[in-house]
Amino acid sequence: MKESTFDVIVVGLGAVGSATLYQLSKRGINSLGIDQFDPPHTLGSSHGETRITRLAVGEGEEYVALAKRSHEIWAELEALSGKKIRTKTGGILLDSGLDPWSKHGVEGFWERTLRYAQNQKIAHQVLTHHEFQKKYPNLLLPPSGKIYWEEEAGYLFPEVAIQTQLDLAKKQGATVWTSSKADSIHSQGEYFQIRVEGKEILAKQVILSAGGWVKDFLSLPIKKRLSVCRQVLYWISIAEGCTDWQKYPVWMWGYGPAPEDFIYGFPSLDGKSIKMASESFVEVDHPDELNREVSEQEKEIFWVTKVDGKLRGLKKQILKTSVCFYTVTEDARFVIEPMNGDSNFLWVSACSGHGFKHSAALGEDLVKRLGY
Ligand SMILES: Cc1cc2nc3c(=O)[nH]c(=O)nc-3n(C[C@H](O)[C@H](O)[C@H](O)COP(=O)(O)OP(=O)(O)OC[C@H]3O[C@@H](n4cnc5c(N)ncnc54)[C@H](O)[C@@H]3O)c2cc1C
Repeated sequence: MKESTFDVIVVGLGAVGSATLYQLSKRGINSLGIDQFDPPHTLGSSHGETRITRLAVGEGEEYVALAKRSHEIWAELEALSGKKIRTKTGGILLDSGLDPWSKHGVEGFWERTLRYAQNQKIAHQVLTHHEFQKKYPNLLLPPSGKIYWEEEAGYLFPEVAIQTQLDLAKKQGATVWTSSKADSIHSQGEYFQIRVEGKEILAKQVILSAGGWVKDFLSLPIKKRLSVCRQVLYWISIAEGCTDWQKYPVWMWGYGPAPEDFIYGFPSLDGKSIKMASESFVEVDHPDELNREVSEQEKEIFWVTKVDGKLRGLKKQILKTSVCFYTVTEDARFVIEPMNGDSNFLWVSACSGHGFKHSAALGEDLVKRLGY
């Protein structure tokens, strides 16, 4: 076998690609992972300090098994590396109970979450408004609000997860090329020929996990199934004397009928600020066209529409922002498909704003689909 020939090449080493490469290396497969940047980086969908993980995922009951398995794999990675990847804080899902709240195009996200928790024996509670107010007074939920509490929910450190999986993959024999952009992938007999920075490399099988850039490899009708949508993360100052934000669980809150009528947040990690965000579904053509700046006007609108009157214990001071993007399908489902019907070349789009918590198990699922 030539030096530039591999059994499997993984194109894109973000959440999904790093998990896939780790799983291939664990099985001793001669594999190469390539990324156009140097992951973990801040230009894709996997940066910004934290990601929520929860088990009863209202996005679809079929994803519960992936979330559960990912929790096992994060624990395995922590044991192997000594690094902290997952923090269990518990999690709350709130619905204002005023207008039907639709998330990812389907109404009843709160009810579905509760149903999946019951069906799948996931430890949870439904709190009364009075119980909730006593415990979490910083979230100003109206009395009509519905409150779901989940024991196993918490947050992940995405950059640490990616770095750890890449480090372990290398230790277990995988090759990693960073600052290496795949320009084209073509089938050539029993191999795929990939053009990377002027070099030709060969692989028997390919996983294309290029996040929003996957569109570069798809034909127009397939490309149209994916929308790249800019998202902004905000770190907001905690008001003087309000120390309890550090003890909060992760939280998500749907307060109106539009998909954007949604906010979520994390406990304070530094004692000075909390990270929170909303969701936006304004489409840009391509990740390279994303506006990475956050204007003062945008920050003001965020404060007025998403913070003021909904949260307390915060100061009107935004300490930091970060721009990221979702790659969204219409029904928020993940896509894992053979490219041009060839099961040795799988393309993946596992985002729609909820992919990180599943990524460790998705990597395992992908290598099983390749027959390992
Ligand atoms: C603001 C925000 C908040 C989120 N919150 C949550 C959450 O709380 N919980 C949750 O579970 N999920 C959440 N998500 C979703 C989750 O983060 C994504 O599903 C996940 O990060 C997607 O990972 P990925 O591997 O598909 O993409 P990426 O991590 O973007 O990786 C793609 C990689 O491919 C590389 N690449 C692209 N093209 C090429 C090429 N031609 N050659 C070589 N390399 C290439 C890129 O450089 C990149 O490193 C959130 C997403 C965002 C943006």
